[in-house]
Amino acid sequence: MNFLIASWELCKTKTSKEVKVAFSFYEDKGPVKVEEFEVNRYLTHKFDKEHIVVTTDHGGWVCLNKEEFDLLRYNKIREDPQLYKLLEEKGVIITLNNIESITRQLRNKFAHVSRGAGLHIITVTLRCNHTCVYCHAKSKPLEAEGYDMSKEDAKKVVEFLFESPARDITIEFQGGEPLLNFPVIKYIYEYSQELNKRYNKKLMYIIVTNAVGFTDEIKDYMKKNNIRFCSSLDGPKKLHDKQRKYFGHKSSYDEVIKKFKELKKDFNFSALPTITKESLNYPREIIDEYLKNGFSNIMSRNLNFAGFAKQLWEQIGYSSEEFLEFWKKVFDYELELNKKGKKFLDSKIQVILWRLLTNRTRGFTCFGSPCGALIGQISYDYNGDIYTCDESRSFDIFKMGNVNTHSYKDIMIKAKDIVSLTSGFASMCDACPWHPYCGTCMVATYGAQGSVVPKLAVDHECKIRKGMIEYIFKKILYSKEDRDILLGWAGLRKTNGK
Ligand code: SF4
Ligand code: SF4
Repeated sequence: MNFLIASWELCKTKTSKEVKVAFSFYEDKGPVKVEEFEVNRYLTHKFDKEHIVVTTDHGGWVCLNKEEFDLLRYNKIREDPQLYKLLEEKGVIITLNNIESITRQLRNKFAHVSRGAGLHIITVTLRCNHTCVYCHAKSKPLEAEGYDMSKEDAKKVVEFLFESPARDITIEFQGGEPLLNFPVIKYIYEYSQELNKRYNKKLMYIIVTNAVGFTDEIKDYMKKNNIRFCSSLDGPKKLHDKQRKYFGHKSSYDEVIKKFKELKKDFNFSALPTITKESLNYPREIIDEYLKNGFSNIMSRNLNFAGFAKQLWEQIGYSSEEFLEFWKKVFDYELELNKKGKKFLDSKIQVILWRLLTNRTRGFTCFGSPCGALIGQISYDYNGDIYTCDESRSFDIFKMGNVNTHSYKDIMIKAKDIVSLTSGFASMCDACPWHPYCGTCMVATYGAQGSVVPKLAVDHECKIRKGMIEYIFKKILYSKEDRDILLGWAGLRKTNGK
């Protein structure tokens, strides 16, 4: 933990002179004479005696064999100059040569904590023309009254989100089915464009829709104003129709595929499947369905204990082990396709690879410590209620206020509690070797355990995330062919560790 404090101090430093001051502060024992190196705080995971992965807080990692690891832990690395050099390169030891690089990596890793919320998810209606078995938004029937966002609340939401200091702002429209309240989407688009003449931010817009409600008028408006969308496809017809029931229609699948064909002419869009117990039977078929419909990537979503999914967990849920078994089959199949020359990318694995292999600042708001709840994304319900993130709308505990009564500043004062909750330091995540790249989800934990502080031994989401990272690491460490494909997914040519 002491090194974490040092890291935060180091984040603020720029020159080597200031670095020495930071070290003095960290040690808290008066000035420290920095000799040739200091061993960084590290954690380990042993795959076998030839593959012991050593990770650091700033995200650098290295894979050692037992002899090399013994030199590190017994402080004898000077006996092996090549090892010394490697550990310096990855920041497992800290020297005056690498301190600025470690600082930069830490700054990137935590950039999302201070840049302001950039993703604003607006529920323009809770009404929906589907009744999906797992809906976390607890959608309302088409004819229900009082669940559409009003223009007055929409105006307040737009004014609220412009208070964020973030330079890049994405406004994401969700539901229910957001196309059912398209007039309010138009209003938000137009009012935000007008306000932006004063703020000059980079604005992006995206609609998360089941796609069946597209009309020519909606398509034209979106094309003209560069509003993007993404959709859902759970897999083959049998599976999709079982999970995504379309009010008053025989098959959601038929309608969705028809729309996708039309929309492909004008839009470049993606879709995602939600994985239920039924989906576990179709690992290859789901990927084949995406290929058949012209998609070259996929980002699947596992179920959370929230919304309808929590109520129906016995019928549609699964254990983390069952999910992981499925996920590995999907991953293996994706690699198999790539080996045959078919370019197909798993976007969720790509996000994890970016964490493991690059120093990119974090865009994806989940899967991190702290995650992006409130500091990276904010969710607004149809009535202006403010939630920490999209998935949290199922639980009142995550309601932070309302746009009619709270300012951005009021909400950000509460953000420090959310950051400490999601930092992993309130749980055992800080003793986990994957903590630099991962973090559990307080919403999933609350849904499953009734507490925002997870009992990690039983945490469903933690087991899934841990299993994924370890499997990805195995692919990187044990197979050159797999590694080359994954380096390609990460946008890298070749590397051993970061
Ligand atoms: S609480 Fe969970 S769903 Fe919300 S941003 Fe964090 S990881 Fe994502
Ligand atoms: S959620 Fe689990 S795997 Fe991820 S950092 Fe925490 S303890 Fe490690």
